Amino acid sequence: MKLKLAVAFGILFLLTVSCDTQKTRSMNIYWIDVEGGTATLIVTPSGQSVLMDAGWPTEEERDAKRIVAAMENAGITEIDYFLVSHFHDDHIGGLPALAKRVPIGQFYDYGNGIEQNNESIQKGLDDYIATAKENRHITVAGDKLPLTGIDFTFVASHGGVLNQGLANPESNTRCDNATFPSEFNLENSQSLGYILSLGEFQFLNLGDLTENIQHKLACPTNLLGIVDLYQVPHHGDDLAPQLNIAIAPTVAVINNGAHKGGGPEGFEVISAIPSIKEIWQLHRGLTTDDAHSASAQKTANLTEENDAGHWIKATVSADGSSYTIENGRNGHSEQYLTK
Ligand SMILES: [Zn+2]
Repeated sequence: MKLKLAVAFGILFLLTVSCDTQKTRSMNIYWIDVEGGTATLIVTPSGQSVLMDAGWPTEEERDAKRIVAAMENAGITEIDYFLVSHFHDDHIGGLPALAKRVPIGQFYDYGNGIEQNNESIQKGLDDYIATAKENRHITVAGDKLPLTGIDFTFVASHGGVLNQGLANPESNTRCDNATFPSEFNLENSQSLGYILSLGEFQFLNLGDLTENIQHKLACPTNLLGIVDLYQVPHHGDDLAPQLNIAIAPTVAVINNGAHKGGGPEGFEVISAIPSIKEIWQLHRGLTTDDAHSASAQKTANLTEENDAGHWIKATVSADGSSYTIENGRNGHSEQYLTK
């Protein structure tokens, strides 16, 4: 009897300790360097993982290896939710190589790809469908991912956006004379976008969403409210100021490559956001000048493509009250308070 009691108390003790550890765990976000593509990994306080996009297809399976390295750093061995923002090569190309290496649970996308006359897009879509099999989910804006302790909402999908604002939508004075190209028939315009909240902390990732859909999110009222941390859409190019100013991010991360994205016009839009405190960048754009680039201290990779592939990593406190951004190359980090 005494032994049984001792065992029961032992189990209770272990449960209490593990619950406490869970409560105090932070959330991590990794912007993995896939050389101008995208692969953004989130590991939640309860250990669930969400990866949007898997980088390029390369013979050496470079991007899948880099994703696995980030997973090892985060202490996870499988991806619970894989999201593809859209079916361009730089976002879906690395999936088959990744799926060979690690188990992937559920797959989310916007639909069947609208540039199917494009050979590489059709291949990306075919490979995706073959990998996802019966675990494929087609989303619409407003759908949620069932994460523990995190509110995760898709805000854009297949050219559509939320029907209702997430927080009391306010009319947006920058909408009236806004001009932008109409790009409804391009793959980028179909991108999935999501916002996630942990406590008061909010992170926004809009994939490669085009200016006309950014406009729909912002006008006539801003449907997204304000955010803390922002992955700048489309590798830092083609940004609608009426959205980028309205969401009032504190910190922006540009996931560009040495020769892709990170252009001066986008950098000017982000720099001009009154709320912005800091811009971090995955790569130095090698044809962009200093004035339109993040500081070297806050840039993860300074040289040519196929370099060391350093990431940028965010650590969000378990209660969402603050977050730290760290440069994987030099260890430089800065902490910010959630709004
Ligand atoms: Zn892209």
